[in-house]
Amino acid sequence: MKAHGIEQSGWTLEALLPTREGAEFERVLAELERQVAQFEASRERLSPEMSCEEFLALMRLSEDTHTTMQRLSSYAYLWFSEDTQSQEALGFLGRMEQLSTDVQNRMLFFSLWWKGLDEEPARRLVAASGDYAYYLESLRRFTPYTLSEPEERIINLKDVNGSNALVKLYEVITNRFSFTLEVDGETKEMTRDELATYVRAPSPEVRAAAYQELYRVYGDHEAVLGQIYHHRVRDWASENVALRGIASPIAVRNLGNDLADPVVETLLDVCRKNMPIFHRYFRLKADLLGLERLRRYDIYAPVRAAERTYPFPEAVDMVLDSLERFSPTIAEHARHVFAEGHVDSEIRPGKRGGAFCAGILPGLAPWVLVNYVGKTDDVLTVAHEIGHAVHALMAGHHSLFTFHSTLPLAETASVFSEMLLADRLLRQEDDPAVRRDLLVTILDGAYATVARQAYFVLFELEAHRRIVDGATTGDLGALYMDNLREQFGDSVELSDEFRREWTAIPHIYATPFYCYAYSFGQLLVLALYQQYRSDGASFVPRYLDILSYGGSASPEHITGEAGFDIASPGFWQGGFDVLRGFLEDLEALGEMGEEA
Ligand SMILES: [Zn+2]
Repeated sequence: MKAHGIEQSGWTLEALLPTREGAEFERVLAELERQVAQFEASRERLSPEMSCEEFLALMRLSEDTHTTMQRLSSYAYLWFSEDTQSQEALGFLGRMEQLSTDVQNRMLFFSLWWKGLDEEPARRLVAASGDYAYYLESLRRFTPYTLSEPEERIINLKDVNGSNALVKLYEVITNRFSFTLEVDGETKEMTRDELATYVRAPSPEVRAAAYQELYRVYGDHEAVLGQIYHHRVRDWASENVALRGIASPIAVRNLGNDLADPVVETLLDVCRKNMPIFHRYFRLKADLLGLERLRRYDIYAPVRAAERTYPFPEAVDMVLDSLERFSPTIAEHARHVFAEGHVDSEIRPGKRGGAFCAGILPGLAPWVLVNYVGKTDDVLTVAHEIGHAVHALMAGHHSLFTFHSTLPLAETASVFSEMLLADRLLRQEDDPAVRRDLLVTILDGAYATVARQAYFVLFELEAHRRIVDGATTGDLGALYMDNLREQFGDSVELSDEFRREWTAIPHIYATPFYCYAYSFGQLLVLALYQQYRSDGASFVPRYLDILSYGGSASPEHITGEAGFDIASPGFWQGGFDVLRGFLEDLEALGEMGEEA
């Protein structure tokens, strides 16, 4: 393995903006104003008869303007992320947010005009718009379901104090929740995020108490939270299905994701059929924890952790090496991100927590932020975020509007590079405890991302059906318990308070049916990984094709061009075959442990 000697460091933002004050900065602001004014001046030239050349010139001007704005607002966001305590950074961020809103409002007329344009001229202009085509088509995806202008105006008005207000009320109510838990003989008041850390506590009593407290508090507000959900669901149906004529409640989300209804049905179906893999895993996990049977409280229980840490330069070498073995092209892009100094990997007071990758402009190395401590998880996070950066660079030849992958494919490169790293770690690691940790991490993650999220959506499908037929909140609780019983079979012991779990999932309220995007993204990568294992080197160019599309075509088109059929159950089954393989490795480790 080649050593790159990359140490933990901060990042440089120079490629975005050479300076944030003085004459040079004022020149950037002046340039933006000139571009926006020029765009505004083109307003009266918009017409169904306008020439393709004129339309294309306008799209280029729009892209240039967004590019300038993107430099300014991304700089502000990244500066604030590196130092959230800086008043200067906060002030700059506020100023750029205001500027960005103003610019968007001044340019809004274009997308409104475009969405309302008749089909025939729109098709003519799309055909001539090259790389902008998919972006322009996406803007019009809801056009067939758009009502007359006065109707749309009424819907906007009713949403402000109707469904948007319901979602806001849900947030206001649940954000104020406070939880009490006894930890080490001391009773503590905490927020939900703090409470959530105790579902991973080593003590079985603490894990149970954390869940019981969570649903005690949600249970105290069950009537009002249930009522909010009823109105949200009814409004969703009356607006989208009855008035706009969209085929079903979930079809609204599928349309937004540009996925055909049968693709999503197939995905959910295959998830459902494969639950026995997780049942087997939960029985094994009970064994590992020394329990007769796993309780729902123990799903995320830690299995005795191996104390293995990796210095940052070693982590980077491992990530780059695993990418290099897969594809030198990908490794080259990854090295470029480090070479440009775009990775902030230090631990510093005031720095934003967590991790992200910001792909800002096509062709420009993305910026990656991680808080690297050295655990196996941290190494996987580096692989994940670098994967996102590679994806953006692979798509760097597209426009600003089309180089970002769309939601269903957004996690492809990130999770795939995690898989490459995990496989490499599993192959090189001879300490069984470290191998076991890694397999448990992968399977816990796959349950939480693939199975659990799919079952949220299966519940929503049923709930949306039943609520219009008059189901009560109590009925929904019973429905949810049925959902959990199917999900866990007899591998996990359920307790009654979990009937309230759905009231504690914000996505179910704010963005109905959103959660399948997590299952889709994760399982897609596992299925691709299965193809890689069976096809070897011939898989690589097909995978690179997927990445280099960025967001310039629909998920079905992109995967189809690369030779994968996401409408077929067999494709998705491949993902579960990978998981079964990991489970069998883990089972084999368990047997080894017993012999020793
Ligand atoms: Zn990600």
